[in-house]
Amino acid sequence: MGVTANSVWNNCLAFIKDNIQPQAFKTWFEPIKPIKLSDSALSIQVPSKFFYEWLEEHYVKLLKVALTKELGDNAKLVYIIKMENTYGNQEPFTEKIPSSNRANVAPQELDVPVKSKNPELKNPFVIPGIRNIKIESQLNPNYNFDNFLEGDSNRLARSAGMAVANKPGGTSFNPLLIFGGVGLGKTHLAHAIGVEIKDKYPERTVLYIAAEKFTQQYIESVKKNTRNDFIHFYQLIDVLIIDDVQFLSGKSGTQDVFFHIFNHLHQNGKQVILTSDKAPVDMQDIEQRLLSRFKWGLSAELQNPDYETRISILKNKLYRDGVEMPDDIVDYVAKHIKTNIRELEGAIISLIAQSSFNKREVTLELAQQVVEKFVKNTKREVSIDYIQKVVSDYFEMDVATLQSKTRKRHIVQARQLAMFFAKKFTKASLASIGSQIGKRDHATVLHACKTVDNLAETDKQFRKYIDDLTKKFS
Ligand code: ADP
Ligand code: MG
Repeated sequence: MGVTANSVWNNCLAFIKDNIQPQAFKTWFEPIKPIKLSDSALSIQVPSKFFYEWLEEHYVKLLKVALTKELGDNAKLVYIIKMENTYGNQEPFTEKIPSSNRANVAPQELDVPVKSKNPELKNPFVIPGIRNIKIESQLNPNYNFDNFLEGDSNRLARSAGMAVANKPGGTSFNPLLIFGGVGLGKTHLAHAIGVEIKDKYPERTVLYIAAEKFTQQYIESVKKNTRNDFIHFYQLIDVLIIDDVQFLSGKSGTQDVFFHIFNHLHQNGKQVILTSDKAPVDMQDIEQRLLSRFKWGLSAELQNPDYETRISILKNKLYRDGVEMPDDIVDYVAKHIKTNIRELEGAIISLIAQSSFNKREVTLELAQQVVEKFVKNTKREVSIDYIQKVVSDYFEMDVATLQSKTRKRHIVQARQLAMFFAKKFTKASLASIGSQIGKRDHATVLHACKTVDNLAETDKQFRKYIDDLTKKFS
């Protein structure tokens, strides 16, 4: 058999494979198809222009060496970009790289990536250099470190964020996972890190994206047959910020693609920042391999702000808006809204509005009315103690029995139901539910929730327990 495009390329691949990381080989070389060989020019097909640019940026030396070994010093490489969404067999453009035609080129000289100076190839439309592609960061400059006030509740997360902003990809906080309840500042902090990085390192590509939007883009790319472009795009980012990753639960396709993007970025020293409303241990329906990646770096929690922090957030807000408000009003709001900074701000904004639109003095009474509205809408959470009491009463046992270590079936069931309702009706984590219901661990609670779900579908009597109890809680 003579020398063919296939045989040449296979030999090149064998050489390349020995010289780079397996993941990089998989990502960047496996998708390439050898197309044709004429004289000493090998044409290879790559799936997108990003792909071509990436090869040029990172692997041109290696390609040159591999190809020269196979085809001699006159070796040329021709790229054919075939986007999966283009029609027919277009060959959008070709470019030659190892273009030195001189004889006996010393290996060192081959190291310099010599791009062809051929003017007909310089069509900026079809050869957009990486730097011509402007990726908008999608950052909100109003969310920065200056107005992210520090307190005990956020000190760890805030300092970790600062450390990451100073040295993106260069700390052990990679990924940095910021987690915490609704309205505690996850989105704000995530933007602040990005804004700070852009400020310090303007040339780095930073991208903020909500996990929900990421998922939509991915689904769209599958529909349009541009999945590869989607992946390559994300693999070009230096600092990737994904907000609310809990949204990926149960979406295995998106998780899968994110897994590959994550690995690629991480391997190349790029920074990944994630936020979630749950700790990794409480995330459900996220694949194990992805969860384990989430835990590689640092998980930092944003906790409920303490009283002093709430006061300073409120005062800061008033100060920035140029509004004065009596201390006792600020104090009242801070004392009554404890678990959500967005609501804290909402209440004060509402007070400002009421006083200016209705030309009313802000009185304590008005503050009470406003706060009541906020607190009523959100603070109807039942406590885990209350749930245990109600479930115990329903099965005519006492709470100590429900919590005991016994394996008696009806007691186990009562305990599992209590765990199930605690998960359903409170914001407590699995670990915290377990520790409050008889000092069990999070896995036991997870198992209890699944068992209850199963029995609810298969066991009529059990279904009735659930319905009866649910009524008592709503
Ligand atoms: P989450 O993403 O956790 O739901 P956000 O980041 O949207 O919460 O924050 C809700 C609101 O609270 C935003 O307006 C944000 O600016 C404000 N906020 C949160 N934490 C702080 C903080 N430490 N200092 C000042 N404002 C904060
Ligand atoms: Mg958010």
